[in-house]
Amino acid sequence: SASTETMGFQAEVGRLLDIVAHSLYSEREIFLRELISNSADACDRLRYSAIASPDLTNGDVDFAIDITVDAASRTLTIADNGSGMGRDELIGNLGTIARSGSSAFVSELSGDSKKDVNLIGQFGVGFYSAFMVAEKVVVNSRKAGEEESWRWISSGQGSFDIEPGERETRGTAITLHMREDAGEFLEEDRLRHIVKTYSNHIPFPIRLTVAGEQKEGDDEAKLPEQEQLNDASALWTKPKSQVTEEQHKEFYHHVSHAFDDPWLTLHFKAEGMIEYGGLLYVPGSRPFDLFHPERVSKLKLYVKRVFISDECDDLIPSYLRFLRGVVDSEDLPLNVSREMLQNNPVLTKIRAGLTKRVLSELGTKAEKEPEEYAKFWENFGIVLKEGIYETTADRDQLLKLARFESTTQDGLVSLADYIARMKEGQEHIYYITGDSKEAAARSPQLEGFAAKGIEVLFMTDPVDEFWIPAVHEYEGKQLKSVTRGGADLGNIKAAPDAEDKKDEAKKEESADLEKLVAAVKEALGNAVADVRSSDRLTTSAVCLVADDNGMDMHLERLLQQHKQ
Ligand code: ADP
Ligand code: MG
Repeated sequence: SASTETMGFQAEVGRLLDIVAHSLYSEREIFLRELISNSADACDRLRYSAIASPDLTNGDVDFAIDITVDAASRTLTIADNGSGMGRDELIGNLGTIARSGSSAFVSELSGDSKKDVNLIGQFGVGFYSAFMVAEKVVVNSRKAGEEESWRWISSGQGSFDIEPGERETRGTAITLHMREDAGEFLEEDRLRHIVKTYSNHIPFPIRLTVAGEQKEGDDEAKLPEQEQLNDASALWTKPKSQVTEEQHKEFYHHVSHAFDDPWLTLHFKAEGMIEYGGLLYVPGSRPFDLFHPERVSKLKLYVKRVFISDECDDLIPSYLRFLRGVVDSEDLPLNVSREMLQNNPVLTKIRAGLTKRVLSELGTKAEKEPEEYAKFWENFGIVLKEGIYETTADRDQLLKLARFESTTQDGLVSLADYIARMKEGQEHIYYITGDSKEAAARSPQLEGFAAKGIEVLFMTDPVDEFWIPAVHEYEGKQLKSVTRGGADLGNIKAAPDAEDKKDEAKKEESADLEKLVAAVKEALGNAVADVRSSDRLTTSAVCLVADDNGMDMHLERLLQQHKQ
């Protein structure tokens, strides 16, 4: 029509759509989960807004998601009475990739469809997954509280159209014109099965309507034969014993927007001074935005079953930001505003309770299933190390959970393991820093330690440079870098024969050494702070060390790289 405007997709969306449409994605059925999930989010959002502005719902608080299938016209419509979208929102939300960090994700797409599908699997393409099954998508939406409605139309190739619509009630209806090869998604049984599998615990009814023959293509037609497909109960309110692993997986996929499976599930209810319950999941793989500078939590906060916010930073320390799930409070007021959530005493208590629960569960895993725990540590150890640096309250517990690679052991070791293996006369916990274990392992500074069989821990994460100086020691043992001048191995007993020759040889050597040291000092001048002889080397002639009080060498290099 005359008022139709055609707009180009953001370049990243164009690329994404190209890959989505052409990849032979084996799990195309997830498009329905994505669309239902968006509808549920929209209902949650409106229910929350309506607490402060009841007019927005106009008395209609029976939130629901309606799926209508019309085999004759080969269309599938997913409609909700949630928040809806205005014109600008349609353009912004369905024309760009708004989620933070997503452009970085798209730039990693290679065009190699196998790799890309994997990435997409981790990331989820949300709304755009509709184009896996549809050749044309029509979105009719009316924002709650507004009069006009808008229609967004696209075949997923470079551009979309936007024009005034004629939707009479609030909410969004998304109509998919199915591709030739996607006929299976017009079959009732298939749809029933998909909803049961992926969306059973969406806390709003999801209903299926099969359009009659003489229907005029109106999305809104409410036919008598409506069948509710899902359970529609809040999963976390069920008794723990009644929730199966499959149900947890499904719910985790919904709340996390991820495709992996949870590594750990915590289903809990706290009943004391304050009452709250919920479901927390530790993902089985690293979320793509784990290292975003904002380091924000993604947990969903509910108050008495009503969704409040998923941007609630005070709910969990940022070193646990990889957790996904739901926390439902009985004590916060329903009309709590997002601003009121800052420094809220109830939240502070919930946060302490959640942290305790999670850390203690991780401790149990570490103890009882070390191999499983190692997988966790590989994904999230770096983040927990941030916590060692940032919190003094949880530091001891985090140090117990910390695992390291070492020069003498296979796999990961704890600080307690290390201490148990310390040599007679050894007073310190030795570590070496470096960009990687391989690089650090080649360091000549390890030679003396290796000769005496002394274990050295590898500290190869950048964050190690921060927490180690903050912590200093563990169980009374100092953490000492092997690159520091004071790392003196003199007192530690080595194999007996190595020790014997030392004393006699030493006297003769020392006079010569002094001369040599003086000569080297003169030659190097101001380039070094000092030149010393050392017990640490066995096969290399010299090595560079950091001053005892100076910065660790690796940190010095790190800072130099950042030109500080
Ligand atoms: P995500 O859900 O992760 O934000 P999507 O690609 O699934 O990403 O959706 C993009 C955005 O489009 C959503 O964040 C939301 O703002 C908007 N949106 C999608 N579907 C709906 C809907 N049914 N009702 C209201 N807004 C929606
Ligand atoms: Mg979504």
